[in-house]
Amino acid sequence: MPVIRVALDLPLHRLFEYRAEAASTADVGLRVRVPFGRGERIGVIVAVAAQGEWPDEQLKAASEILRDLPPLPPEFFGLCEFASAYYQAPFGEVVLQALPAGVRRLDPPARRAGRQTKAKPGPLPPALTAEQAKAIDAVTVDGGYSAQLLFGVTGSGKTEVYLRLVEWVLALGAQVLLLVPEINLTPQLEARVRGRFPERTVVALHSELAEAARERHWRAAFSGEADIVLGTRLAVFTPMPRLGMIIIDEEHDASFKQQDGMRYSARDVAVVRARQAAIPILLGSATPSLESWANAQGGRYGLQTLRERANPAATLPAVNVVDTRKMVLREGVSPPLVEAIRQRLAREEQSLVFLNRRGYAPVLACPACGWVSGCKRCAANLVLHLADRRLRCHHCGFENGIPRACPTCGNQDIHPFGRGTQRVEEWLQGEFPDARILRVDRDSVKSRTQWEAVLTQIHAGEADILVGTQMLAKGHDFPKLTLVGALGADAALFAADWRAPERLFAQLMQVAGRAGRAELKGQVLIQTQYPDHPLFAALKAHDYEGFAAGQLKEREQAGFPPYAFQAVLRAEAPDMAAAIAFLTAATTLPVVTEHEQVMLYDPIPMKMARLANLERGQLLAESGSRPALQAFLPRWREAIAQLKAPSRLRWHIEVDPLDC
Ligand code: ADP
Ligand code: ZN
Ligand code: ZN
Repeated sequence: MPVIRVALDLPLHRLFEYRAEAASTADVGLRVRVPFGRGERIGVIVAVAAQGEWPDEQLKAASEILRDLPPLPPEFFGLCEFASAYYQAPFGEVVLQALPAGVRRLDPPARRAGRQTKAKPGPLPPALTAEQAKAIDAVTVDGGYSAQLLFGVTGSGKTEVYLRLVEWVLALGAQVLLLVPEINLTPQLEARVRGRFPERTVVALHSELAEAARERHWRAAFSGEADIVLGTRLAVFTPMPRLGMIIIDEEHDASFKQQDGMRYSARDVAVVRARQAAIPILLGSATPSLESWANAQGGRYGLQTLRERANPAATLPAVNVVDTRKMVLREGVSPPLVEAIRQRLAREEQSLVFLNRRGYAPVLACPACGWVSGCKRCAANLVLHLADRRLRCHHCGFENGIPRACPTCGNQDIHPFGRGTQRVEEWLQGEFPDARILRVDRDSVKSRTQWEAVLTQIHAGEADILVGTQMLAKGHDFPKLTLVGALGADAALFAADWRAPERLFAQLMQVAGRAGRAELKGQVLIQTQYPDHPLFAALKAHDYEGFAAGQLKEREQAGFPPYAFQAVLRAEAPDMAAAIAFLTAATTLPVVTEHEQVMLYDPIPMKMARLANLERGQLLAESGSRPALQAFLPRWREAIAQLKAPSRLRWHIEVDPLDC
């Protein structure tokens, strides 16, 4: 009897074999129901062994091969194989987790047809600028694989380039995959895509879709019925039979990196997918990741630059730093910023105060005894939220009421220390009692509907001052916004995390890009105690290239990525000693000495040393050679799996960590 080899969603690096009476090689790629343990599971058939090829006496029989979907194609498995090998993730987990929940359930819910909303046609496309035309030529000239980085300031017409490329691909009869960091934050992009191609089928794929809708959209992509798939990172694995191009918007955005389960970079997987499929890929950003920038400088990616804003009337904002060393700040706001806001109010223009910290204050403390509102479960403070009178952990979700007095000494005079968006909002309201102030952060805007309502409100001019986190930094166009003030930027300048300057620069550049997008000239005021820092000099000059060159030079000298390749082994356990002991054991395994080109650092507690009652340690592995690291990791992983570990210890390997 034929034997099928099945991928199952289990943390094990192996396939599972079953007897299957009617199976043939044509069934590779179909889902199958199989007995497992005391129950059943859904798996995917990866291979069919002919009669006699596999001893089948001991094997259980598969329950049922599911034929409601066509088989997953070899390209899908090829991509999963890459991801599994590269990220040290079990193949079965990759394959199954790449599928929407609806098709990997034993009891699939009844499927309903979805409503197709008819899109309203958008405005006619503008004539392309020479730079836009050149970028489009570069992507389309070859037909085969090519990777192009599209570097252009906000408003330079990147989206227009995407739309023209989509048009080109659709005319060839192919499908497009358009990846975005967070769909909820970019309803404008979705609307523009639908408006430009009202006759085409556009589907969205992201984790906030209801399960049934996500399955329906996935099926439409897989059957070839959908022409355009607009998705977040999880969409990168969607099988698409006519895929002709991949476009990644805001390619620098950290949300392309999955931080749990299989820890992968959708951007990097997308590049591999384009190469495997021999199709072009375009990565767009105003502030490319330094990895992509280095690839473009080194010639692995082509570089297309849009230097000017597409609308000639929309000049880049003037960026100034406010030297706060000799100023008296009130709730963190400097007199020049107050004055600038006052001017905008008088002219009926909008201002945005940017502070990347939500809540009222990051901690509540007792000056008498030194008590602080710590989270019982994490190495973090509970953040004070006055809007709903709670203390809340931003890491594990734990929350509590606000104590009336210090829990340790009974002192009634306990104070919030530091400030978040709520506190700045409160102060501004006191300073400008007639202004309409709108706070925009994940506490005030929780759903897509709320987000759309907020955007409408801003566009309609129903807010004078916006106070917000980086939610407001993403690609929106606010024509009446002419002032951006940035608070609290200094924290990232000297952070231990060597990627912090890259993130700060990108954030400030993005948020600065909100100012002056229409005919009104914009101004950006960055408050700092380090006005001469080179990062601010680059921002003032709108000089991403200079900033990137400086950062890359520093990284090259220090031997950091992209000039070195990293993976991190993390262990979490009820106590740190156990986690560190386990990591230490991983450094003394025989395989370690067999791979001289890979260097292991000492195990250390993670920055967030305790999260949700688990203590966490990490161990960094690094090599100057990617192949050397890749040769080491699977052998190391197998040896680690053989280590004796306390039963409550969990570990994983993350390749190309962003946070270590
Ligand atoms: P980005 O995606 O880089 O922020 P967009 O593509 O959204 O830029 O373009 C910014 C604005 O300029 C939009 O209003 C867009 O319609 C307009 N625009 C884009 N390309 C052109 C062009 N070639 N000529 C005139 N206006 C353009
Ligand atoms: Zn006290
Ligand atoms: Zn916590």
